[in-house]
Amino acid sequence: MNIQKVMVIGAGQMGSGIAQVCAMAGYDVKLHDLKQEYLDRGFSTITKNLTRQVDKGRMSEDDKAAILGRLTPSLDLQNASDVDLVIEAAVENMDIKTKLFSQLDEIAPQNAILATNTSSLPITEIAAATKRPEKVIGMHFMNPVPVMKLVEIIRGLATADEVYQVIEDMTKTLNKVPVEVNDFPGFVSNRILMPMINEAIYTLYEGVATKEAIDEVMKLGMNHPMGPLTLADFIGLDTCLYIMETLHEGFGDDKYRPCPLLRKYVKAGWLGKKSGRGFYTYEG
Ligand code: NAD
Repeated sequence: MNIQKVMVIGAGQMGSGIAQVCAMAGYDVKLHDLKQEYLDRGFSTITKNLTRQVDKGRMSEDDKAAILGRLTPSLDLQNASDVDLVIEAAVENMDIKTKLFSQLDEIAPQNAILATNTSSLPITEIAAATKRPEKVIGMHFMNPVPVMKLVEIIRGLATADEVYQVIEDMTKTLNKVPVEVNDFPGFVSNRILMPMINEAIYTLYEGVATKEAIDEVMKLGMNHPMGPLTLADFIGLDTCLYIMETLHEGFGDDKYRPCPLLRKYVKAGWLGKKSGRGFYTYEG
């Protein structure tokens, strides 16, 4: 199957990045969200990223204009009626995702592939909300999307081999590296990363060290480019909590219980960089 038209659902940190890399690779992209202000924010992020590339001499003004010309805003899910691929990057919540997939199943063409950028939710369960589970697949991009090379490609129980192959090939056209994994909570990336972040939050919660000290230990001692608490702020504390809850529920093992401090911050609306405050505070 030939993919030309893509719809990206959710114009947040991940969706705007995915839309940007798809448009850069030459696909026609509809970027969909619930409100105009969310679309404006997503488009402004993309424009800023491209302008930075032009300023650094890595892209011409003409290329930037052509990429922006391939991006169309969408506030109506019916716009999925003529696309070849949908990549869903709405919030990490099973009810929202299953509702979206069941609607998309009605709207998108019969042969369209429905992909989700979920960080941890079961692809098989999302696929079961549709009548085309063989055409549902996970495409787990890393943050920030324009920079990070990896895309975990997750097969649901029913995902067809042909669909896997189309998505693996398409991922390569985005100049990314696909890695195949099976459908288990957290896949590979977040099964390993998120318990480490959660443990760092426990370390802060139990007063073992300050946030700066915890980050410094992991940066200097383990050669991580960013400390775990800074990384949690960057990912979004709501997303971190959703992922820990998915691991906890999916494995039924208390070693994955989310730290109470993480819950408290999310309840306070301290979601990290995107809300201006998490473990650290951010201006602008
Ligand atoms: P975000 O909060 O920045 O953006 C989510 C966007 O989805 C918002 O603009 C919101 O308005 C929109 N949205 C919510 N419900 C919607 C609906 N029903 N229809 C259309 N749009 C809707 O979140 P994010 O960090 O971009 O995460 C998005 C997805 O990507 C999540 O599933 C998350 O787990 C996954 N993910 C996140 C990261 C990360 O580092 N943040 C990395 C990989 C994957």
